[in-house]
Amino acid sequence: MPPLITLDMTQPLNLGELKLQILHYVCSGAYDSEVAKVLSEAQTYVEARTGEVSRPAIVLDIDETSLSNWEEIFHNDFGFFAEGDCDLNSKRACGQGDWDRSARAVAIAPTVDLFNAAKAHHVAVFFITGRRDVWGERDATEFNLHKVGYDGWDGLYLRPQESNEHSVAPYKTWARSDIEAHGYTIIANVGDQWSDLANGHAERRFKLPNALNRALAAGGWDHPQRATLAAPVAGTGHSLNQIDRALLAGIVEHGLERAFDAIAADVQRRGLTFNKDGKKIEGADANRAELRERFERFVERSMPLLRRLGILEAA
Ligand SMILES: [Mg+2]
Repeated sequence: MPPLITLDMTQPLNLGELKLQILHYVCSGAYDSEVAKVLSEAQTYVEARTGEVSRPAIVLDIDETSLSNWEEIFHNDFGFFAEGDCDLNSKRACGQGDWDRSARAVAIAPTVDLFNAAKAHHVAVFFITGRRDVWGERDATEFNLHKVGYDGWDGLYLRPQESNEHSVAPYKTWARSDIEAHGYTIIANVGDQWSDLANGHAERRFKLPNALNRALAAGGWDHPQRATLAAPVAGTGHSLNQIDRALLAGIVEHGLERAFDAIAADVQRRGLTFNKDGKKIEGADANRAELRERFERFVERSMPLLRRLGILEAA
């Protein structure tokens, strides 16, 4: 296993060290267990909600959500090559299109579990992928999904050739509204990129961790990546604990003005409580007050540094 290297955030990141850190993250099993945790939350929600909604549906992204392309990503040393053939026995780059058409991606097992649980509860399942609707892609994608255990989905959207926006978000938003137009209620939307989840049209969004690659979006870094990268701020004597990371992710996602209410609502929905002086804080109001205190302390203490490091945009 490659060594875990603490990143010095006082200088621009060294790309080679960052790759080693991501290798460690994957090889140690941390990536798989973080993915599994989010999918188990999604499954719990879907199973609880199914009886309460007429024509419930879930939406799954494909790459790094339903299928893992780790073999290709590792072969390409985290690079992206749109064209060219893919021979993993060679030392040449593996072209994305050829890799997709070879249908060799493996299952993300907890997503297969979620898929099967949804089907068992009569919840419709739709795949919405950024893979292009070009020759060979649909057949290969369907073949690959079947091969690894997905069976009986209700629809598969591929990105039309004429969809040319910078981000896949507008196309994916359209696809979800199309599903709703067919009478479904989307109770859960699961993806590894924020562009999978942007713009609503789902009761709940489940964001899988993904340090492996990022679809370009207008907002710069992927939000959780910002929070993750902000964690080992070595050399500055500053690091973020888990609560601070959640606060940072909330601020990045909702903006400073609306962050507290959004985080407080999330904390309450999850039934989370705080500890103080080794004791559990009882009662919603007392926990909200504690959250308020921690939030304000975080903003005062950490925001100037996070802005200076470029992790948050300057106000
Ligand atoms: Mg994806």
